[in-house]
Amino acid sequence: MFFPGYFTYFLFALPGLILGLWAQSRVKSAYKKYSKVPMARNLTGAQVARSLLDAQGLYDVTVEETQGFLSDHYDPRHRVLRLSPDVYRSPSVAAAGIAAHEMGHALQHKAGYAPLHLRSALVPAAQFGSNLAPMIFMAGFLLQVFGLAFGYAIAWFGVALFGLAVIFTLVTLPVEFDASRRAKQLLSSSGTLIGNEMVGVNKVLDAAALTYVAAAVAAIGQLLYYVMLLGGGRRN
Ligand SMILES: [Zn+2]
Repeated sequence: MFFPGYFTYFLFALPGLILGLWAQSRVKSAYKKYSKVPMARNLTGAQVARSLLDAQGLYDVTVEETQGFLSDHYDPRHRVLRLSPDVYRSPSVAAAGIAAHEMGHALQHKAGYAPLHLRSALVPAAQFGSNLAPMIFMAGFLLQVFGLAFGYAIAWFGVALFGLAVIFTLVTLPVEFDASRRAKQLLSSSGTLIGNEMVGVNKVLDAAALTYVAAAVAAIGQLLYYVMLLGGGRRN
């Protein structure tokens, strides 16, 4: 019988974990630094978002304040751009970058950018998959360990379900990278940010993008671990 210990699990989990911690610390330090750097034009994140939206003809997309730290997001269903208090109220380089990034998602929505729609469609399946798949997998895995062959089918079903969560993290990558690309382009071409203010925006947005890469790597590691467990069990 094959029952790998924690060590094997760590081998699969470690790359995502290390990358995740590194990305988080980079986001925090970049945000801490550039949320204290005032932008020359003295616009709050809310004002930056509003002026960029208007410039793109997106008058009907509203900008709202939402609670939480770095909880900023674009809600395509209600066409609302929600900004965290720090971003909404502060006239900093970091706030401008984050507001413009969320604005980038609104632009993707307007342009019918396919990965954004695919990502939205995957949200329920991915949530279901990431919550239930590990339990279904473990139940199936233990059943086959105790000699019940149908456990294999259940465990593979868990793997397939978890695959949806992995696909979600992969589809998220082009969506997030593209939103930041649009944000940088808009901020510099509109003259919202001037001089070397773009350096701060690049630092904040690139660090944030890295957290999505880390999430994808962690999900792939977990999927590979499940597959390895089942493959290893079958050999015996
Ligand atoms: Zn985003």
